[in-house]
Amino acid sequence: MRCAIISDIHGNLDALGAVLDAVGDVDALYCAGDVVGYGAEPNECCEVIRERAARAVLGNHDAAAVGLLDRSWFNPSARAAAQWTSDMLTEQNRRFLSGLAPVASAEDFMIFHGTIAEPMNFHYIASPWEARALAFSEMGSAKLAFFGHTHIAEYYAQEEGGIWVDRLSMTDGGMIELKPGFRYVINVGSVGQPRDGNAKASAGIYDRDAATVQILRVEYNIASAQRKIEKAGLPEILARRLALGM
Ligand code: ZN
Repeated sequence: MRCAIISDIHGNLDALGAVLDAVGDVDALYCAGDVVGYGAEPNECCEVIRERAARAVLGNHDAAAVGLLDRSWFNPSARAAAQWTSDMLTEQNRRFLSGLAPVASAEDFMIFHGTIAEPMNFHYIASPWEARALAFSEMGSAKLAFFGHTHIAEYYAQEEGGIWVDRLSMTDGGMIELKPGFRYVINVGSVGQPRDGNAKASAGIYDRDAATVQILRVEYNIASAQRKIEKAGLPEILARRLALGM
C-alpha cells in the first residue's frame, strides 16, 4: 500500500499538477489542508482535491475563505488573498471546504493541519516540545501522523514510552525509515508555497509495506503561477515569494 500525502496547495495549480505527476500511481491521495489561499486558482485546486483525494482536512486558509475563522489575525497580504478567495469560490467548493474537519484518521495514520490539540486554533508545530505537547501526546495508539501548516518539510520522532523528541529537516527531500518502537509526526511541506528555502513543491509518499516515507521535492512552472497571481490582482509579494521558497 502506497499513498501520497500533500498539504498547503494554496491555489497553486501549476505546483499541484507537477506534484501529482511526480507522485504517479498511488493507492490513495490525502490532503493535510490549505487547498486555497494566496494562489490564483482556488476553484481548480478544490476540484482536483475533491475528485482525487480519499480524504482532506481543513486548513486555516480554507476556514478563513469560508467564514469559519476570523481573518483579523492574518497579515495584510494573507487577509487580502482570503477575501479574494472567498469572493471567487463557487458554492460547491465553499460547501466542500466547509465540510472538512481539521483532524482525521485514515488507514493506519492521522492527518491534521496545524496541531491535534485545539486544532481550530491552528497553532504551529515548529519545535520538538510543540510536537510533543500538540501532537504526540494526543495521538493515542496511532504511531504515525502527517501534517502541514508551517510549509516546512521535516519530521519528529519519539521512542514509544519515551519523552525525548528528535527533529530532522527534510528540506532537500529524501527517505524516512520508520523504525519499529518509534512514533512519527511528519510535515510533508507545502505544494504551493514552500517556505523552507527550497522553492520546489513538496509532497510525501508513505509506503506501508516498506515502512518508509519519501519526501519529494518537485520542480514546477513558478513563472506561470506568478503570472496568474499578478493577473488576478493579488498582492505582488505572493508572486515574488514563490521564487524564493520563503
Ligand atoms: Zn498553509
